[in-house]
Amino acid sequence: MSDWKKSITPMVFPGKIAVPYTWTVGSTLSKFYCELRDNGKIWANKCPACKTVFVPPKVKCIHCYRDPSIWVELPGTGTVESYTIVRYEEPMLHPRKAPFVYGLIKMDGADTCMVHIIDEIEPEKVKVGMRVEAVLSENREGNILDISHFRPVK
Ligand SMILES: [Zn+2]
Repeated sequence: MSDWKKSITPMVFPGKIAVPYTWTVGSTLSKFYCELRDNGKIWANKCPACKTVFVPPKVKCIHCYRDPSIWVELPGTGTVESYTIVRYEEPMLHPRKAPFVYGLIKMDGADTCMVHIIDEIEPEKVKVGMRVEAVLSENREGNILDISHFRPVK
């Protein structure tokens, strides 16, 4: 048997393999997503010790490691703490066509922020401190895009 590698430089093609998989989000996020999908409600959880309210909910308190076992419904409004304007297309990563805005939103009743899309406003008009409200998707599937986006409070 000849050793073909001695007379030829092997060509190498870089490739990517898409591997379908599923994973569980666990009981805490399952409750969050089921309430969002089935009832259109945004729930947070609260640490009974330090009273920190998390949205999206956490399995453990990031401050004292207790179970945030108290569930609280949030009103769906909040304040833009920070934002960025996305100006490039990345269809596998971004749920919207550019330009669009990702905002860091502190929801009323929560102590933590969540990242989500801010829409129904020109990107250049988004400001820190702006009041926003969640807009739910019509066809909810049990994921974070069941909140379609946040828009300025009118
Ligand atoms: Zn705590």
